[in-house]
Amino acid sequence: MADLSPFEARGDFVDGRLALPERADGELVAVDPGDTRESLGAFPFAAESAERAVAAARRAWPAWRDATAETRAAALHRFREALQSEQERLASVIAREVGKPLWEARTEVSAMIAKLDITLSQGLELVADRVYELGAGQVGRWRASSRGVFGVLGPFNFPGHLMHGHVVPALATGNCVVVKPSEKTPATGQLYAELVQRAGLPRGVANVVQGDAAVGARLAAHPALDGVLFTGSYGAGRRILEATLDQPWKLVALEMGGKNGALVCADADLDAAANAIAFGACVTAGQRCSATSRVFVERAVAGALLERLAALFRGIAIGHSSDSGAFMGPVITHAARERHAQVSAWAAAEGAETLVAGGPTEGPRPGHYVRPSLHLLRATSRGSRYQSEEHFVPDAFAVAVDSVEAGLAELDATDFGLVASVFTRSRATYERAARVVRVGCLNWNAPTVGASSKLPFGGVKRSGNDRAAGAASTLYTTFPQANLEVAEPGPAAKYPGFPSLS
Ligand code: NAD
Repeated sequence: MADLSPFEARGDFVDGRLALPERADGELVAVDPGDTRESLGAFPFAAESAERAVAAARRAWPAWRDATAETRAAALHRFREALQSEQERLASVIAREVGKPLWEARTEVSAMIAKLDITLSQGLELVADRVYELGAGQVGRWRASSRGVFGVLGPFNFPGHLMHGHVVPALATGNCVVVKPSEKTPATGQLYAELVQRAGLPRGVANVVQGDAAVGARLAAHPALDGVLFTGSYGAGRRILEATLDQPWKLVALEMGGKNGALVCADADLDAAANAIAFGACVTAGQRCSATSRVFVERAVAGALLERLAALFRGIAIGHSSDSGAFMGPVITHAARERHAQVSAWAAAEGAETLVAGGPTEGPRPGHYVRPSLHLLRATSRGSRYQSEEHFVPDAFAVAVDSVEAGLAELDATDFGLVASVFTRSRATYERAARVVRVGCLNWNAPTVGASSKLPFGGVKRSGNDRAAGAASTLYTTFPQANLEVAEPGPAAKYPGFPSLS
């Protein structure tokens, strides 16, 4: 059994070998944002590792592409076993490095294990050959072909699940990968590299390299890649698109940020709506792409909803990731904590009424602790920085609306298009929302957070480029190839002026 020591740098996993870079360009320091008194470990990185990894993946691809589905499934089952056997250790490293409570990190690891099962069943079914009788002895086949080598870039907030969410479908459909975990979570990256090693995939098929944003940029622009599978901020996604403009062959799948809204209709179950909204705004300390940050409520029930929301926001227990009574840990960095203060200042400058004053606070240990904040606005303004940008802190604003239709228009009136929730007892209202609100995920009486791996997950507008991930990932890790098949050629068709051999 491999010696998994996540806080000790053991190196990048390249071409089947785990090794520290010979000449490092820098080092990433793992920090517990809930207890910043000492570092958890330092992880050297080198851009050259990514170069070697791309070369190794290219060498490995033809054989992996040509391997049988059974061979690939067996390798992914070994990966599943490795994850399962280190489930608790992985959860504790994620909890420590991101600051999220252990109960939440455990759900992340469970999702990683489920990802393997769902991809090997539902994901592969989605790209199984489709066959059509075309007439005259001809068969049409719609086949999903492996693309080649992907660079995978992961964010910090789900440092295991989100890169893994691209890696598994890519491998299952015969591609090779070079994975770069977030520079904010190098210890999770180290453990993931060791679990990939333990899966015993053929050399070069899956590589994991540490690196900062510059390594990510170099990897994304690498001319020998067939695609980039990215989850992160809009700004970084935009830079990747720019950097790959001259590489039209490259599949670029961008999973970016959100500014997710909830509409509470007058007929809604207000307790259920308030619970879902407070949960969606505060879980992972507001650091989810799907976090709820905009709340629209029909005027008749605004007072009753806001009372409930304020009580829930005030009652959120904050604590260190190891504290079993904590719902919310710290935010990831000092800068994120400062941003929360800035966000509240922007809200105040717009004349927002503070319903719950949040922002930087003392925690149980020295760390980047904040309390959730809730504001009430009189009206929305499209040009407002507070209302339009993704802040990635636990903050939400509420606005009363005069009708369901006005609320649906508000839900849609954002540059992002990841998730929206509608709280109503009316199926017709929910069905209307699904038609008019331009989002990748539209939920009915359910929080904006908490996606199912059995469904697609992705956004439109600034949230993504229509390459839905989740269960739909196998659609972009392959390309559709059309085949006209004639198993037994008959007599040649006759055309005017075309000669005949007989
Ligand atoms: P980030 O954009 O700072 O970094 C994400 C990854 O991209 C990191 O590995 C980073 O090193 C790399 N990177 C940064 N600049 C790059 C560049 N120019 N070229 C190539 N790679 C680059 O994001 P983050 O702060 O780690 O994560 C938070 C963001 O991720 C939020 O905006 C959040 O909404 C988003 N997110 C989206 C989803 C989704 O599924 N849509 C899920 C989780 C997080």
